[in-house]
Amino acid sequence: MRLVDAHCHLEDEAFDGDREEVIQRALKTGVVAMLTSSLDREGALKALGIAREHKGTVFLCIGFDPTIDDEAEVEAVMQLARELAEKGEVVAIGEVGLDYYWVRSEEARSRQVARFKEWIRLASELGLPLVVHSRSAGKYAVQVLLKEGYDRVLMHAFDGRVGWALKGVREGGFYFSIPTSVVRSQQKRKLAKVIPLENLMVETDSPVLGPERGARNEPANLPLAVEAIASIKGLTVEEVAEATYQNALELFRLRGLP
Ligand SMILES: [Zn+2]
Repeated sequence: MRLVDAHCHLEDEAFDGDREEVIQRALKTGVVAMLTSSLDREGALKALGIAREHKGTVFLCIGFDPTIDDEAEVEAVMQLARELAEKGEVVAIGEVGLDYYWVRSEEARSRQVARFKEWIRLASELGLPLVVHSRSAGKYAVQVLLKEGYDRVLMHAFDGRVGWALKGVREGGFYFSIPTSVVRSQQKRKLAKVIPLENLMVETDSPVLGPERGARNEPANLPLAVEAIASIKGLTVEEVAEATYQNALELFRLRGLP
């Protein structure tokens, strides 16, 4: 079995004490690639260091936490993304998107939408796929993406209605990655059931969204998501593993994998 963790945060300080062991444990369970998504400038530089040390295993996605309202920092991260994309060191823009769980005011939400569009344009300019965060804003994120016409999209840990997810699949060809929390979340089980295998990936979102609420998650837990999806869809673990692996290869154009 070979697996791609389509979304995690290896640069998170939760891994500062044992990052190397965490990566090695993942490799032992069949996780051959981990896409680490940074959330600010400092995180991007730290994630870059990890990706450089683990070339062909850890891949860098550069994004920005939508709850941080800081134009100068956004500009700096976009500039960094351009420089690194030119050198072929970035596989995606993300995670970026909308967070209506933490951000409640209409004014701040409309600034998020405007910035999200800027990130979509940057991804398009750089020819990179997008990894989208859409907490409590699934419907709005899908609407913005369809309106902008961007179709190289991974919706990560989507928490919206399955109807909106299916609209993303049918009209945009979006991919959806199911996190390890699928083992305990009814909403994620529903999502795993309706999204076609051709549009599925798996993720851990480490250090969060683990099989056990509140406990640190790590990429080595990824097979738990694959097993849960296989049982929900009535498929074999190998079928889910191989399809999600191929989908990740296709969207992110990963190189040097087994
Ligand atoms: Zn994340």
